[in-house]
Amino acid sequence: MVDRDDLNHYCNQYLSVSKYKDYCPNGLQVEGSQTINKIVSGVSANLDFIELAIAEQADAIFVHHGIFWENESNVIVGSKKKKIDLLLKNEINLFAYHLPLDDHPDVGNNVQLGRVLGIKNMKPVDSSLLWQGELNTDLKTFSSLIEKQLGRAPQLFGRLSGPLNSIAWCTGGAQGFIDEAISLKSDVYLSGEVSERTPAVAKENDMIYISAGHYATERYGVQSLTKHLSSKFNLEHQFLEVENSV
Ligand SMILES: [Zn+2]
Repeated sequence: MVDRDDLNHYCNQYLSVSKYKDYCPNGLQVEGSQTINKIVSGVSANLDFIELAIAEQADAIFVHHGIFWENESNVIVGSKKKKIDLLLKNEINLFAYHLPLDDHPDVGNNVQLGRVLGIKNMKPVDSSLLWQGELNTDLKTFSSLIEKQLGRAPQLFGRLSGPLNSIAWCTGGAQGFIDEAISLKSDVYLSGEVSERTPAVAKENDMIYISAGHYATERYGVQSLTKHLSSKFNLEHQFLEVENSV
């Protein structure tokens, strides 16, 4: 059992929340019960996920994508009202960690995905959200490994004339950072989604772009964080999957 405010304080320190300029609040987004025994984790706090958390009688939810974003309207109507209403009625605390969770050196989405995909010599790129590392493989083998580990076939774009050695990656919807991957001279850039311009940019710069799924690439950070919290504070924990093909 842990006190909600102690857990919030611990997470904010552990994830260095104050270091990040983000477009959503990181930390406790909706206040629920004061004491917490059971936590559940997931990628996004959508309605399906909140209903699963209620069925599991969770005291707290941990997600990567919370329910408040700067680019969205801040009035509480429609599905947002429904979600907040369910959380309040069931006294469920909602904790959300966005960029601090992508970037963390141990439980972060990027480092965790790198481990899942067997990337060597992983390191964060200075003053950027990208990570870089090395692969000792060919594209066909790497693509099969991604499919096996993430449970879905990745989309491949572009072309590469030389061997496949260096990789840069950033989980989620970070296809726009392909220009940074080009400046790092990466053979492959991997992220979760793809834009109309991405295939041509990859091809024109003699590199491969891999779209491996926004949801699929961001399943690991929050699981790793809550596993850590569960052992540190002796909490019951469960990861709740809400299938998403994007
Ligand atoms: Zn995301």
